[in-house]
Amino acid sequence: MKKLISLLSLTILLSACAPASTPSDDEFTIAASFYPLAEMARNVAGDHAEVITITPAGSDPHEYEPSPKDIAAISESDLFIFNGAGQDPWAEKLELENTAIIHMTENFSLLEGEDHDHEEEGEDHDHEEEGEDHDHEEEEGHHHEFDPHIWLDPTQAAQEVEIIAEKMIEVDPQNAAIYQANADAYKQELLQLDSEYKETLVSCQKDSIITAHAAFGYMAARYGFNQIAIAGLSPEQEPSARKLAEIADLAEEEDIKYIFFETLTSPRISETLAQEVGAQTLLLDPVEGLTQEQIAAGENYVTVMRSNLKNLAIALECE
Ligand code: ZN
Repeated sequence: MKKLISLLSLTILLSACAPASTPSDDEFTIAASFYPLAEMARNVAGDHAEVITITPAGSDPHEYEPSPKDIAAISESDLFIFNGAGQDPWAEKLELENTAIIHMTENFSLLEGEDHDHEEEGEDHDHEEEGEDHDHEEEEGHHHEFDPHIWLDPTQAAQEVEIIAEKMIEVDPQNAAIYQANADAYKQELLQLDSEYKETLVSCQKDSIITAHAAFGYMAARYGFNQIAIAGLSPEQEPSARKLAEIADLAEEEDIKYIFFETLTSPRISETLAQEVGAQTLLLDPVEGLTQEQIAAGENYVTVMRSNLKNLAIALECE
């Protein structure tokens, strides 16, 4: 009798253990190169997929180099999502055999960045960005850069969510209805955010902001303000002394009272410029990754974008 009981309890114990280990083998796993893409995938997946973020919290994705462990995790996942256009240059070179891929910026028509190798003359960028519609054919030997920061326009972020949902449904059709419902709900949240931006930024005294790096081109184009960036499309493209002097002149001409800084890179240049022109500094977060502090505080893309809107309204002097 005793033997039977212990045998029974062993069976119960074994069956209790089993569900924890087996599903992980066939669990739907998604790897995303950096935070915003992971956040979108998580919102679509709910509990139905595991989402890994390759660029760690607190790191600048422009600079991150994946470890061999990262690469192994990506090749073991069912779906890999990356941005492209130079945001995560390592990702474009990966060769994956059994992993579905989303190269996100291939689905968008991208803005052209300033060419930082040449001294910039034109301080008056009018709002018309030159060349909205490029196809992706790179001409031989040209060195145009395209702006990778599409997620900072919430309507484009909503399109990204739809692209992610479609691919997830293709890879894991069993949960199609759930993914589509989750995607629709999150897209609604992003379009609500867009409405808040439009309403808040509709009537402002100023029309230019000075940002740490040129991350806000799509946001500026959508809501009708002008971005003057200290660094280039990547924070590592630091400005020449001449460029800095030009920005300082502009700041004084336009009576700009706030210089923006970011969370993942040093605020030093923003602070120096602010001191020079008698301005204050404010945070404008390109949401390229969360810091440990932001994670601990429960922040996410939508909450950070709401804080951004508050600070934009201060700097642009909106009513
Ligand atoms: Zn950036």
